[in-house]
Amino acid sequence: MRAWLRASVAVNHRVQIQATQVTMRRFFIAAGLVIALNLVYTVWFLGFQLGSATPATGLWILLVGGTHTVSAVLLTVLVLVSYRLSRQPEVHEYAALALHVAMVVVALALGAGLSVADQLVAANTTMFALISLAVAMLSLMRPALSAAIFLIIYLVFFFCLPLTQPDPQLLAISRSHALAATLVSVMASCLMWRQYVQSTLLAWEVQNAQIALTAKQAELEYLATHDSLTGLLNRREFMRQLEQERVRTLRHPTPTSLIMVDLDFFKRVNDTYGHPAGDTVLVAVAGALAHSVRKTDVLARLGGEEFIVLLPNTDLVGASGVGQKLLAQIRELQIPFANLQLRITASLGVSSLARGAEQSPDALYTAADKALYLAKHSGRDRVELAPQTDPIPPRL
Ligand code: GH3
Ligand code: MG
Ligand code: MG
Repeated sequence: MRAWLRASVAVNHRVQIQATQVTMRRFFIAAGLVIALNLVYTVWFLGFQLGSATPATGLWILLVGGTHTVSAVLLTVLVLVSYRLSRQPEVHEYAALALHVAMVVVALALGAGLSVADQLVAANTTMFALISLAVAMLSLMRPALSAAIFLIIYLVFFFCLPLTQPDPQLLAISRSHALAATLVSVMASCLMWRQYVQSTLLAWEVQNAQIALTAKQAELEYLATHDSLTGLLNRREFMRQLEQERVRTLRHPTPTSLIMVDLDFFKRVNDTYGHPAGDTVLVAVAGALAHSVRKTDVLARLGGEEFIVLLPNTDLVGASGVGQKLLAQIRELQIPFANLQLRITASLGVSSLARGAEQSPDALYTAADKALYLAKHSGRDRVELAPQTDPIPPRL
């Protein structure tokens, strides 16, 4: 029970910060309207009615006009303060809430003031009830805060009424009507709050679900395009990027090269030290390769102990240099596993399509594979180059 109460207080507090922002926007508009009405009533009562007033109605007109004037001044000040606050990059939540409460109190005091004045001519609390209800509908306040403000204003109203209402029966009627208006307003305010909390919590839930979904999508996309052991691109993603490169070179003809890397006698590592040792070697080689190629190159694990690098904008001479570098990097690796330092070598096949040559990823791939086969059969731990595809002769 206590945990539930604490959780609901925490939720109310979080929602109140947002609710205050919404209320301030509403009040900004409503205050403009009320200030305009205040000014109209001030001019009407003090400017036109006062002259023709009887002694009985003179005080009433003065009080009503005065209340409107005070309300116009106070609301203008609050609007100016809230405008200045809204221009600041960060507003403290309590400053915004204090302004919110001040707006509510001024609006309710306007209703109470007018109804206290009205007692001079009739036992009428319509303005108190009307403004209380309007405030309850517009202002989003958590129930405890709302009940406290409405009840305090009612108590002040209760004790101010006898100042202008000497008849005990009419006083009782006005007080009871105002109490009913206060209770209905508190209820309306609670209902508005409940509705707002429900819709806000729902919106937050949807937002959180969306964030989780986006994260899950990114994770799935990563899993679909990457190799789980080494973190390099997988075969499928590599083939997609190879096709993309083909389309790119159709529009901007530049040489493209491919390097296939196959570890030498890798099976022996598995057989001698076990599969975990083999996995460690694969991860270390992947790291070394990733470290040695450019960001624009596309490095992937084709499967097993085979890796592949696509080098856009690189001719056979350039790719051969990269191949030699990769060969040396792999050869120099000392891979810690248990108490051992594992070593490995690799064979590399390099192929290239000259600028303007007929672009075919398959031809490039097959040529690199053949060069790799040659490297294996020429003794391993070396780079072999495929014969270069001839460019298409330019059309006359
Ligand atoms: P060669 O020099 O002719 O390339 O000989 P090799 O032993 O490297 O090549 P082979 O194709 O005979 O063996 C490759 C081995 O790679 C066989 C397979 O068990 C192992 N392998 C494939 N994928 C993985 C993996 O993810 N982890 C481990 N540890 N081993 C793997
Ligand atoms: Mg192999
Ligand atoms: Mg091998």
